Amino acid sequence: MLSVNTINLKQCNLCPLSCGADRISGKGRCGAGKDIEISSWNLHFGEEPPVSGTKGSGTIFFTHCSLRCIFCQNYPISHLGNGKKITEQKFIEIMLRLQSDGAHNINFVTPTHYSIHIAQALKKIKGKELKIPTLYNCSGYEKTETIKMLNGLIDIYMPDAKFYSNSAGSALCRADNYALVNRKALKEMYLQAGELVLDENGIAVKGLILRHLVLPGHTGETEKMLKFIYEDIGNDIYLSLMSQYHPAGNSVGHPVIGRRLNPGEYRDAQKAARKYGF
Ligand code: SF4
Repeated sequence: MLSVNTINLKQCNLCPLSCGADRISGKGRCGAGKDIEISSWNLHFGEEPPVSGTKGSGTIFFTHCSLRCIFCQNYPISHLGNGKKITEQKFIEIMLRLQSDGAHNINFVTPTHYSIHIAQALKKIKGKELKIPTLYNCSGYEKTETIKMLNGLIDIYMPDAKFYSNSAGSALCRADNYALVNRKALKEMYLQAGELVLDENGIAVKGLILRHLVLPGHTGETEKMLKFIYEDIGNDIYLSLMSQYHPAGNSVGHPVIGRRLNPGEYRDAQKAARKYGF
């Protein structure tokens, strides 16, 4: 298991790309260097109901990404690196400010390449000044060692379960091991966080929320992914089956995913979800 104290950004292996980059003097394949970079932070009301609740989710959007899907909805942040560097002290101030603004949780969006920075900061404040739940909102392309490092620091995992097959991961994210890596990571997150637990107001306090974005021309992937979740994790989990796909970034004009879903495709996805009891 990676330890917060021993991770060396001089040879970074935090994510499944394991590029070994020296992030002290340069940048990794993800685009990240030694400092945290963020594009924005705010109270977000558009997440799943147990996450946004009535007061909003305290969302921090990190710059860069280790996956960089061609259909990324945050292309300027993930691919172009729009954002600014902040110190750890500023990062902590932002989390505490979101908490004092009433956020139900601190929601780290695309956190993988900064997981070590997040762990180090949370070790200083979690359970002390920071009392609200923490949420790891990620692409699902995660090393199990990195997830184990976050044990006790992250309360809610909200990963994507994007593709069942490696060919889809290869074609759409240039990650030909996405599927296998993702399935291991989802199981590790579930092992650590368990089913979603809500408070008396229906707000998430701990557990796993799985997100699957239904893609045009890929309903077979959806069926296989839901079958895997049913068989290997269970159907008691909170599943967010998302229909809002629209072409963005490099998927505009793409022959297969360069369009929105048609109603029949989302109906097929719902049918598969019902079939496995979600
Ligand atoms: S997080 Fe970035 S620098 Fe580290 S292994 Fe992944 S791509 Fe390389």
